[in-house]
This record gives sequence, C-alpha cells and structure tokens, in this order.
Amino acid sequence: MASANSLFDDMRSKPEVIDPPQTEDMTDIGETVNDPVQNAIKPNVAAVSSSVRELLECPVCLNAMYPPIHQCSNGHTLCSGCKPRVHNRCPTCRHELGNIRCLALEKIAASLELPCKYQSFGCAGIYPYYSKLKHEGQCSFRPYNCPYAGSECTVMGDVPYLVAHLKDDHKVDMHGGSTFNHRYVKSNPHEVENATWMLTVFSCFGQYFCLHFEAFQLGMAPVYMAFLRYMGDDGEAKNYSYSLEVGGNGRKVIWQGVPRSIRDSHRKVRDSFDGLMIQRNMALFFSGGDRKELKLRVTGRIWKEQ
Ligand SMILES: [Zn+2]
Ligand SMILES: [Zn+2]
Ligand SMILES: [Zn+2]
Ligand SMILES: [Zn+2]
Repeated sequence: MASANSLFDDMRSKPEVIDPPQTEDMTDIGETVNDPVQNAIKPNVAAVSSSVRELLECPVCLNAMYPPIHQCSNGHTLCSGCKPRVHNRCPTCRHELGNIRCLALEKIAASLELPCKYQSFGCAGIYPYYSKLKHEGQCSFRPYNCPYAGSECTVMGDVPYLVAHLKDDHKVDMHGGSTFNHRYVKSNPHEVENATWMLTVFSCFGQYFCLHFEAFQLGMAPVYMAFLRYMGDDGEAKNYSYSLEVGGNGRKVIWQGVPRSIRDSHRKVRDSFDGLMIQRNMALFFSGGDRKELKLRVTGRIWKEQ
C-alpha cells in the first residue's frame, strides 16, 4: 500500500513538474552538442543560441549562470549566487538540492559565442560566453545614464539621445561655442545648504559638455562648486581641457581641469572635488553688495588638447 502510494505520488508529480522542462532541455542540448560546427554557420544559429541562452538563465534570479552551475538530482539548474538562498531545496521541483555541479552546461556555455548585448547601440562584437559579461561592463557602446543632477532620472541612451532628452524633458540651457560667461544668482544664500542650478549643455568641437554648478555643505562650511563633464567616454574626455574663473572686488579664482566623463556619476565627481570650489564667504565677497544676495559671474573656456 505504502509503495503503491509513493509510486502514485511519483507519477503524479513527475509529468506536471519535472518532465516538461527536462524534455525541452534535452532536445536543445542535443542539437548543440551533436552539431556544433554546423550550428555555428547555419542561419538558425541565433535561434539555437537563444534557446541555449534560456537554458543558461537561472530560474530564480533570471541572470545568466556562470560556473559553478548547480543542479538537483532531477537535473534542474541553479546559479551559484542563488544556491545558498534556497535552503537546499530545488526551486523547480522542491527536491533536495545536494551538491551536484552541472559540468555539461558549463561546457556548453564555454562553447558559445554571443553578440554583445549592446548590439542595437552599434557594438558589432561577438564574445565567448565567459568573457561577454566583462566586455559588456566596459563596452564603449553601452548607454550612458542621464547626466542631469538633482533628480532621480533613470533615462539611459547614447549621447545624441541624451542631448535631445536634456533639451526636451529637463529644459536645460543649450549653449553653442567653447567660451561662456554665466551668472548664478541666489537671493537668500544663507538659507541654502544644498542647491543645484540648471545644468548647461555646451556644444563645441562636435562634442557635448555639461556644466554643473551647485551648493552643498562641506563639513561645517557651505561651498559652491562648478565642474564640467564630457558626454562621452573617459578616454576621449582627456582630449579636452577647460578653465573656470570666478571673481569680484579685484580678486579672482581660476580653475583649470579636465572634463570628467559622464560615465562618472555627478555625485562621484562632486565628492572628488574635481572642479572649481568656492567657500560661501568668498562667494559672497565676490558678489559684492551687502552679502544678502549671491551674484557669481563664472566665465569659462573649453579647448582641445593637441
Ligand atoms: Zn540565480
Ligand atoms: Zn529539481
Ligand atoms: Zn559591446
Ligand atoms: Zn534625464
């Protein structure tokens, strides 16, 4: 009676939970293993590798799996990041997970060559499975985050897309040319501890640059900071330099720097003090008048290094 029951349990649970994914999996693996050379040149390679890619997707976190890939005794796979979190139960069939490595899948992964995930952004690279992730972390076609500071904007894209986004959605000031002369005015600067002024986007040398200006509390002292970011990668940012000048009452402070790539977050640049910094007391001294109003004139220039 007991054995009949457990057999019945087995039969009932197997077709529902275990068999369908196993059958599918085995078909896909079979195709790839039997015919790797032909698959590499056949036009259906994309279809085959996309089903293999699904196989390599962890059923829990949905990320691509990298060695060690684990499996339960029924063959369901799981990534090593999720394994410690499932309390030794297979998340697919609920059987005990144990400590079985899925070497076959690891080897299939090693034989795969996949296009970079930023293909649609222009990257033509094809990478072995295990080095694809590393490439994508550094791919020069990977989209940039929106450089607008002081908002939780999650928009991403290439530079032309972001320039249009800054213009249309953030209403930023667009400025042509490589020199500028800006006035930053704040009527009650003593009340302000953190403020971000409207971003200005400069277009010169066929490139785009973002000028940030803001106030924040540095230790006990309120400061103003201005810096330039380059809308492009770090390697190209180094081809440019810029200067910023602020002053009044016969004094001035000059900063010369290298624009930072927008790959570096606005916050990171700010925290590294890589820009023109002015203590509020000095800023008010530059402003003249009765220190009730901040009136800073910032002039600047961008140039291309030879
Ligand atoms: Zn996972
Ligand atoms: Zn399982
Ligand atoms: Zn790429
Ligand atoms: Zn944005």
